[in-house]
Amino acid sequence: MKLLADKVVLITGASQGIGKGIAIRCAKHGANIAFTHLSSPDKAKEVENELIAIGVKAKGYQSDASEFESSHKLVEDVMEDFGQIDVLVNNAGITKDGLLMRMSEQDWDDVLRVNLKSIFNMTKAVQRTMLKQRKGSIINLSSVVGVNGNAGQSNYSASKAGMIGFTKSIAKELGSRNIRSNAIAPGFIATKMTAKLDQDVVGNWVKEIPLKRAGTTEDVADVCVFLASEMSAYVTGQTIHVCGGMLT
Ligand code: NAD
Repeated sequence: MKLLADKVVLITGASQGIGKGIAIRCAKHGANIAFTHLSSPDKAKEVENELIAIGVKAKGYQSDASEFESSHKLVEDVMEDFGQIDVLVNNAGITKDGLLMRMSEQDWDDVLRVNLKSIFNMTKAVQRTMLKQRKGSIINLSSVVGVNGNAGQSNYSASKAGMIGFTKSIAKELGSRNIRSNAIAPGFIATKMTAKLDQDVVGNWVKEIPLKRAGTTEDVADVCVFLASEMSAYVTGQTIHVCGGMLT
């Protein structure tokens, strides 16, 4: 069963990792995909071709989600190319980890700008389109760390906790117009972002996860398909943890 036939899904930062996984899963469910990359045109072209081979319309755009004007220009371009935006997936994110003692102001500002300001930029940019369409689903990639905190990630945790507050507020603001807003809080998902971590630490985490494995990009993408589809028509303002039971 194709859950997203004829929908247009816009995903930020989808040339690799979870974003790419979401793009592929949504395409397999029939969605046309507009996605962004920050500075990797070759990888983006490969993803675009992979999506087109699935049989949907797809296009990659170079765009910085942390920049207000670029986000608005992106939405204009996507509307020109696709004519509608049904789902926005705010996936772009970075880490600049360090204990507070050693965290620079720049590290704080960069993470808050890319992870949190970007969802303000993008949601504001798609708002008018979704209001006109009288429907929409906004999905924000938060993290279990935004719920529980994590030593050495105060900037990242603050940004991801902020995303949850934003998600709930937008659900309350736009619910009457049939625009839903939900967050996904992945736990430990094996991607390039987590490959940078100390593998001994990772091994200990996995032992503590009830499902005894790291998550995959597909694990996250499947929940994203659910939130993008009419299967979740009465779900808004929620944070769904995709963490193998880590936060139980
Ligand atoms: P990743 O580093 O593989 O991918 C992030 C993508 O975002 C990259 O393609 C990057 O180019 C893009 N990006 C960065 N800054 C951008 C900007 N300003 N504008 C547009 N694109 C930008 O990371 P990932 O593991 O795939 O993570 C995806 C999302 O999921 C992130 O928001 C991350 O915080 C969140 N997350 C990941 C995990 C995990 O275990 N991997 C866990 C919880 C949450």
